[in-house]
Amino acid sequence: MPTAYLSHPDCRRHDMGDGHPECPERLDAIEDWLIASGLGDMLERHEARPVDLADVERAHARAYVAQIGDLLQGCAASGKPRAIDPDTFANAHTWSAARHAAGAAVQATDLVLDGRADNAFCAVRPPGHHATRDQSMGFCFFNNVAIAARHALDVRGLERVAIVDFDVHHGNGTEDIIANDARVLMVSIFQHPLYPYCGGVPKGTNMVNVPVPAYTKGAEIREMIEAQWMPALERFRPQMIFVSAGFDAHRDDDLGQLALVEADYEWITLRIMDVARRHAEGRIVSCLEGGYNLDALGRSVEAHLRVLADL
Ligand SMILES: [Zn+2]
Repeated sequence: MPTAYLSHPDCRRHDMGDGHPECPERLDAIEDWLIASGLGDMLERHEARPVDLADVERAHARAYVAQIGDLLQGCAASGKPRAIDPDTFANAHTWSAARHAAGAAVQATDLVLDGRADNAFCAVRPPGHHATRDQSMGFCFFNNVAIAARHALDVRGLERVAIVDFDVHHGNGTEDIIANDARVLMVSIFQHPLYPYCGGVPKGTNMVNVPVPAYTKGAEIREMIEAQWMPALERFRPQMIFVSAGFDAHRDDDLGQLALVEADYEWITLRIMDVARRHAEGRIVSCLEGGYNLDALGRSVEAHLRVLADL
């Protein structure tokens, strides 16, 4: 069975302004690298559907969904951009992009659970892991991974799912949404202190947070993942694994000061695959989060996808 690759043209049309690191060209960089490497031909491509707002409301407060929906639809109608916070901006396409990014994650979940793909990667933006239950922040509007995880639990009837987050920034939004939801185990590693300046103390008993100082190298990060994530995942026996796949812990990425390279992303993906094969029938849905050095992003996504696709 192939690895599914989901995206949507509107994810590229969401634009937060000149010079913003979370830029449309990130998706081009991934696409270019998939074409150059030939890997793109090995994946089964799907155009994402927009998310059903009932799915969004499984992770976000109904009032927040209504409020951000009004604001973003206002931008779409007027064509005028709006600032959401000092780092986060909406343009006329943000509403559609956010709905298709979350929709991709839900659709990927269904593809994998229906046995139509072994696993899936969502090449989407805006990213999601900073979006809390009732707030957009840090380039994020809807928490794509949390929405998909709740869909797997509430709609598809799974009992235990894991969320793995290796973005350089702490996934505070995902933590906010799933803290103390005993059906979810979240394991993460992130630079600390760094935006959003929390995560040092986990918010729930179902979180394994591994904060690491700036300039930590790949070998040390692998040791910490092996010692802290793996026993927790093994005990939890997730029936499906969701990945917040941020590639901004790469040594060439200026938004963080960690020193991962492509081989580390390959290794992390192999470790996730190993747990998924033992407990989850191999079921993995991975969603793009950060990654701002365009070259490093393209190469790292290729390394991640090559392992997922078993190539
Ligand atoms: Zn990040």
